[in-house]
Amino acid sequence: MGNVPYAVKHCLSYQHLIKYQYGTGETIAAEQDLHSTGLPQHVKIVEVGPRDGLQNEKEFVPTNVKIELINGLSEAGFSTIEVTSFVSSKWVPQMSDHSEVLQAITKYPDVHYPVLTPNMQGFLSAISAGATEVSVFGSASETFSKKNINCSIEESMKKFEEIIKAANDMNVPVRGYVSCVLGCPYEGKIAPNKVAEVSKRLYGMGCYEISLGDTIGVGTPGSMKKMLDDVMKEVPVKALAVHCHDTYGQALANILTAMQMGVNVVDCSVAGLGGCPYANGATGNVATEDVIYMLDGLGIHTGVNLNKVMEAGHFICSALHKKTNSKVAQALFH
Ligand SMILES: [Zn+2]
Repeated sequence: MGNVPYAVKHCLSYQHLIKYQYGTGETIAAEQDLHSTGLPQHVKIVEVGPRDGLQNEKEFVPTNVKIELINGLSEAGFSTIEVTSFVSSKWVPQMSDHSEVLQAITKYPDVHYPVLTPNMQGFLSAISAGATEVSVFGSASETFSKKNINCSIEESMKKFEEIIKAANDMNVPVRGYVSCVLGCPYEGKIAPNKVAEVSKRLYGMGCYEISLGDTIGVGTPGSMKKMLDDVMKEVPVKALAVHCHDTYGQALANILTAMQMGVNVVDCSVAGLGGCPYANGATGNVATEDVIYMLDGLGIHTGVNLNKVMEAGHFICSALHKKTNSKVAQALFH
């Protein structure tokens, strides 16, 4: 093939084309030369819809609906699905069926089912309900911490230290969330070094992964880059995840920016479930379907089947009598 023109050689590489059959037609995604783009070849998707999404629903979602949603998501090929929160039923009645949900879902052998545990009591209940992985939820904003988890950042860190120590003693992995990393509804801009400091503490205490949350979805690729530049000085990029809300329509661009910087774990929520109580018209978490579509198009492996995610999204939107927030599902799923 010595004298084959470049364009033809390029075409020959189309034997690597991956074909996807969607409901309404066919989309062909070419495998990109990921090394030249700096993008990872594999991205882990953490599905947070059953917890982060549903906890924002005002009407109680029946337990069997939650279970069926999670079982549908397990079938779609996620390796991690956050299923519920062991928060006090007084604070979040929506999650009061946490033990029942955790116990009744079908547990796929290769899937992790973490649960949120805001305090020691929640952690102990989670363990007795069979949790094998937990998450703690901190904040980079002092005011948000006080209003959302009712204690200062310092006090929250002390609580988490206790939980993480107990979990590590039981070989239970802990994921750490840092919220408000690109902005706070009370304080406005958050300094990247504050995010780095909180992330470093959680990582130092033994969290295996730090999920950086743009809780109100105000970030842009510019602020995402600045924040990650600071955090990556304190925590290895392989231990970082991004958790983007799409309030200002920036989530996919922010995720792409994070991936270009080496982040290969992305949180998202089926059908874009979840709102944001702090901004009018907020659309909540980035929709899993939209992220998978983008990653499929880039030739990045996720192991997740887009059609099955759309089915799970359709199921939960029908149950909630809601329209999906996923643009991809709106375009493809009929
Ligand atoms: Zn979220």
